Amino acid sequence: DKELQQGNAQIESQELLPIASPGSERVKATFVTLARNKELYALIESMRSVEDRFNHKYNYDWVFLNDEPFTQEFKDLTSAIVSGKTKYGLIPKEHWSYPEWIDQDKAAETRKKMKADGIIYGDLESYRHMCRFESGFFWRNPLLDEYDWYWRVEPETKVHCDLDYDVFKWMKDNNKVYGFTISIHEFDKTIPTLWKHTKDFIRAHPEHLAHNNLMDFISNDGGDTYNLCHFWSNFEVANLNFWRSQAYREYFEYLDRAGGFFYERWGDAPVHSIAAALFLPRDKIHYFEDVGYNHGVYTQCPLNNEFRYKHKCHCNPEKDFTFDGYSCTGRYYDVMKMPKPKEAKE
Ligand code: GDP
Ligand code: MN
Repeated sequence: DKELQQGNAQIESQELLPIASPGSERVKATFVTLARNKELYALIESMRSVEDRFNHKYNYDWVFLNDEPFTQEFKDLTSAIVSGKTKYGLIPKEHWSYPEWIDQDKAAETRKKMKADGIIYGDLESYRHMCRFESGFFWRNPLLDEYDWYWRVEPETKVHCDLDYDVFKWMKDNNKVYGFTISIHEFDKTIPTLWKHTKDFIRAHPEHLAHNNLMDFISNDGGDTYNLCHFWSNFEVANLNFWRSQAYREYFEYLDRAGGFFYERWGDAPVHSIAAALFLPRDKIHYFEDVGYNHGVYTQCPLNNEFRYKHKCHCNPEKDFTFDGYSCTGRYYDVMKMPKPKEAKE
């Protein structure tokens, strides 16, 4: 059967990930979740899927952060589900409030205007604190100090496939820094001046621009304009030391001073993604084609049948978003010169 033979050949060439890596030293890694108490039962389903598909074999820790104290119920149930240690942190006020240079009346004006314009989360103050926190502060939380790696998990997400290898150790052994599953275009109205400020920053700090960076993923014209492509940050497996680096700290500080987290609605996803694309050599970014991931209306589902069966994926490949026009992952394949799966529609 010719089709099956082609399928099998593809698995071999696409089987990028070793089942077991040599050596067994433990990687300093944790899951990290920012959530509200009221999201407990939406989060538990996400956690159950991460535990079932991956962590029950590896027992990594899980750090939970919240701008309000977690309830006892939240702690009891999440601790019952996680196979590793659980830790709960109350976010310090300085990480979830207005910096003194922000004009709060001007911020309120923006929210009113964005609400009238129907921009998603445009009217929400809390969403802006969340995006600023995920950009500039989660990695400064003392509970994360002992770790080098994290996997971000949000409520209402799913992992669709078995992960039969230690993804943290794989990232480390393969010199990766930032891993993603879904990429997508941002709503331009949420970030009207983000790219201008980014260019100003790069002009002031050309030393931070990496050789062989991924500019061609986020810009179609050599950096003149932003094409809105970003890694969807509700899933991230990444090295904390990247955010702790001088380049990223200075970039965040620059953006924070510019005020766009409040005067516009800058998301942590474009901020993380632009930083990763510009301050890292492109080979340090990893596309996890094998996770099978869902958040809200967007799904990643491996297209190859044999791969899905072998990894017991429970997703519908017809729902796969990877090569949709609104996704950026097709572009990622192109600029990385990676062969697309033969099942991908042109
Ligand atoms: P979306 O994925 O962009 O639609 O935004 P979400 O509402 O899912 O928020 C992103 C993440 O931040 C999720 O993990 C939420 O649980 C968390 N989050 C959002 N707003 C707040 C908040 O006000 N407080 C806390 N503690 N977490 C929040
Ligand atoms: Mn979400």
